[in-house]
Amino acid sequence: MDIQLWNKSVVCKLLWNICNKKDKLWVKWIHCYYGRRASLWKSKPMQASWIVQKILKAAKYLEEVGIQEEELNQMQSFTIQKMYKKFQGEYPKCSWRRLICNNYGAPRWSFILYLNLHGRLLTRDRVAKWSLVDDLSCPLCTSEPENAEHLLFKCGMASQIWDSLLEWQVIQRKAKGWYEEVQWAEEKQKSIRLGHDVQDPNEREL
Ligand SMILES: [Zn+2]
Repeated sequence: MDIQLWNKSVVCKLLWNICNKKDKLWVKWIHCYYGRRASLWKSKPMQASWIVQKILKAAKYLEEVGIQEEELNQMQSFTIQKMYKKFQGEYPKCSWRRLICNNYGAPRWSFILYLNLHGRLLTRDRVAKWSLVDDLSCPLCTSEPENAEHLLFKCGMASQIWDSLLEWQVIQRKAKGWYEEVQWAEEKQKSIRLGHDVQDPNEREL
């Protein structure tokens, strides 16, 4: 969480309180003293206390996200969380976020998964790009060059481990490549989150 953004959202709520709760004594007092000449939105009372000045400056923050005085006055409720999200802006969601965040595996497993999702796993083919590597072959089978795809799925030993794991979990399918498996895991995670385990058509493919 970004504490500065959360703080901005809280100050904006205080300004909304001032604009909307005119029956409260302290709000009446602020309107009476600082809102006489201009609206509070434009008011810059230099003699006001630090906290009052800070709250009135929140109008600038609201304008940053496209909220004007009239809109604020018409808002029936104000949620700090919603304002925080407005300050954060809209970004596309990462499709594999739940594979990392909801993973109960050992931290080092999640970390390896995270590294490979970013294409940053230090396999020999990658290390060879900036350093001298004498042997590029996979240390498990020594017959193929070591890269992430081979190490995690294509290598004979990895393939055996996958088969055993899937059998243990009673999942009737064969492990495929990295991208197919990430996609499958994302779908599986989504269906578990929604509370129903959807049968994947790929699971029948043996
Ligand atoms: Zn191998």
